Amino acid sequence: MQYKTLGNTGLKVSVLGFGASPLGNEFRQTTEEEGKRAVDLAIDRGINYFDTSPFYGRTLSEERLGKFLEGQRDKVIVATKCGRYDSHTFDFSRERTMLSIDESLRRLRTDHVDVLQAHDIEFRDMNQVIDETIPAMLKIKESGKARFIGVTSLQLKVMVRAAQAHPIDTVLTYCRYNLMITDMDELLTPAAKEKGLGLINASPLHMRILTEAGAPDWHPAPESVKRAGGKVVAICREAGADPADVALRFCIGHPDVATTLVGMSRPDHVENNIRGIETPVDPELLRKIAEAVEPVKNTSWASGRLENCDYDYAEA
Ligand code: NAD
Repeated sequence: MQYKTLGNTGLKVSVLGFGASPLGNEFRQTTEEEGKRAVDLAIDRGINYFDTSPFYGRTLSEERLGKFLEGQRDKVIVATKCGRYDSHTFDFSRERTMLSIDESLRRLRTDHVDVLQAHDIEFRDMNQVIDETIPAMLKIKESGKARFIGVTSLQLKVMVRAAQAHPIDTVLTYCRYNLMITDMDELLTPAAKEKGLGLINASPLHMRILTEAGAPDWHPAPESVKRAGGKVVAICREAGADPADVALRFCIGHPDVATTLVGMSRPDHVENNIRGIETPVDPELLRKIAEAVEPVKNTSWASGRLENCDYDYAEA
């Protein structure tokens, strides 16, 4: 496993990070026994970055991760979130933020998290995020309950705005840098580099579009993107490559991303993904993939408030 420094935090994080949303049954029903094996195997194979949230499985992901990490908390870096609690339940108020960390610490069975992130900030009034949420998180950082703080969002410009307003440590986005899309590099990467923010890239498999299983029903991407993803999977299959390996390898190669988060709850996915980051990709295969993706390249979708979106979806 390779490790990179997470921006100015100094934390040395594995280039492959463990996305714990599937532990909360976000993609399918999973058992504790299987999840525990996946976590143990990940640690054994050198993965040290674990990302969760009270939102994933409506606290189930944090509960399970806390249980699975008992006795080995000191081996890993734990990142959780605050502000999002259900699909449509958000609370970025100062009071809820202060409460949220205590609840997370209880579920995670620890006295501190390494990174606390305001979760999906594009869904609410950015003035509140800047005037209440992040100042509360800075207090939490001062108290030692979180070593570092950051923000997450599908929309990128709002995170740049947050970083301009406050000395945050990390930014996390998803589905903005992978085989289907690379506009993170126009809208977020330059600011992250300039400010020394730890850049975290999630959903390298485009939330399962780039896997044999295909997109789950709830996937928000336009049908054209799902169809193009299906073509990529077929092209990889024809070339005898696992599309997840190719997708992951592409993301891991980003020079400025410290860790790439893949959702994992199965030991075989942990094994496959560790293999995937080390599997070189044939340039000819990448060329064919780029050709298939070209008509929908950089297609994203609206999330949260339209005023917080990077593109003018209202007029699209
Ligand atoms: P992903 O693109 O990583 O896809 C995960 C899905 O792919 C899961 O169903 C998983 O079982 C499956 N999978 C994993 N490895 C596989 C393999 N080798 N072969 C086939 N299938 C495989 O999407 P994700 O889970 O949404 O993102 C990764 C993590 O990033 C999340 O778990 C979460 O921790 C984090 N994340 C955070 C935010 C946010 O903060 N707003 C948003 C998205 C993701």
